[in-house]
Amino acid sequence: MATFVPLLTRDQIDRLPERAREVVEYRKSGLSLNHIQGCSLGCAYCIRHTYGLWDENQPVALMSDAEAVRELVEHRYFQPQMTPVQLFNRATEPFLPKVRPHTFAVLEDLDRRELTNHVLVITRHQLKPDDIGRMNRLRHLKVTLLFTYSGIDDQRIEPYPSHVAAASLKLMSAPTERRYRTVLYWRPLVPGLNDSAEHLAAAHELGTHADATVFTGLFYREEIAAYYKANGLPEPYEDTARRKIVPETLERRILGTFNDSRKLFRKTSCAVSYVHGVPDYNGHYGVRELCDICPLVQLGRCAQAHRVPTAEDIHDVARVLPEVEGLEVVDISPRAAVVSGLTTEQPRYFLQHALGFQVHDVRHPHHAHRHGRADIGWKGTTP
Ligand code: SF4
Repeated sequence: MATFVPLLTRDQIDRLPERAREVVEYRKSGLSLNHIQGCSLGCAYCIRHTYGLWDENQPVALMSDAEAVRELVEHRYFQPQMTPVQLFNRATEPFLPKVRPHTFAVLEDLDRRELTNHVLVITRHQLKPDDIGRMNRLRHLKVTLLFTYSGIDDQRIEPYPSHVAAASLKLMSAPTERRYRTVLYWRPLVPGLNDSAEHLAAAHELGTHADATVFTGLFYREEIAAYYKANGLPEPYEDTARRKIVPETLERRILGTFNDSRKLFRKTSCAVSYVHGVPDYNGHYGVRELCDICPLVQLGRCAQAHRVPTAEDIHDVARVLPEVEGLEVVDISPRAAVVSGLTTEQPRYFLQHALGFQVHDVRHPHHAHRHGRADIGWKGTTP
């Protein structure tokens, strides 16, 4: 069994943190495949902190690509042609030189199966002219390349420079004929760090090259805050939060800068769906205030697809999952279904994607006009 990065032994795998051993995991933007773990780029806010993988700075494999793809497509959460997939988005960078052959191997394997699912590949690395042809040879998948760009020039926070991602975005967006799509993934936005008028203008210019732009804030979780403190990094917020943070005034300034753009989005799934000409797979349309910046053509697609499920529909979809025995539907409105009895978030995402409708957990209420974001930096809006 050949891998381009070292393959861990069974013993080594058994010693990994529990969540790191779970190579298929449902996250909000899709079912995530992570059989390669470890990254050398060292972004201070990396989500690897929360998986106990921060010290793994060289990529290693937990299994072969073929085994990993099998595990993904045979997973109880995977639905052909429907489930959005994310590749290497929590533990490594998909275009590190040693990881990129694995990235292409997985994409090509999925494509050979004639799957038409969305596949999201998030990168900040250098892409090469040859990558255009190889990506274009994927005939079935809806591939979206999301280029993480922040404009942060404090090397203690982001040692790998943002201009590389900017150049990769321009390179991959340049061909007029292509099957894959590109998104400027403008994040993490942090007040005082990368939100000057110059930063905003630079992102706006870069966004003109991409098929769409998404802006989003920082996941400032406890493990990440602890790392900032231990290393004397300027702490962006006094508090931590389970959701991404985008303060209200910053959002207003961003919308002002992009007021001539018709392809700016608050939600990753909205941008990814838009660039492929399909309705949002997370069903955000019910949360009406999210859509006020969306292109009209996309509004039409989402409006047409919007269908409020009944409690019976939700139970029907949930029936295939043994872990949702205790599921209760607490409320259904045109915005979202509110459920209780789920012990983890993963089955909730399964329901959301299967129904194309927002499914919220009663323990984590969403506040109107905050777009599913943390409360930090928002005042005076009604819960
Ligand atoms: S119409 Fe609303 S839900 Fe649909 S893509 Fe636009 S913002 Fe998202």
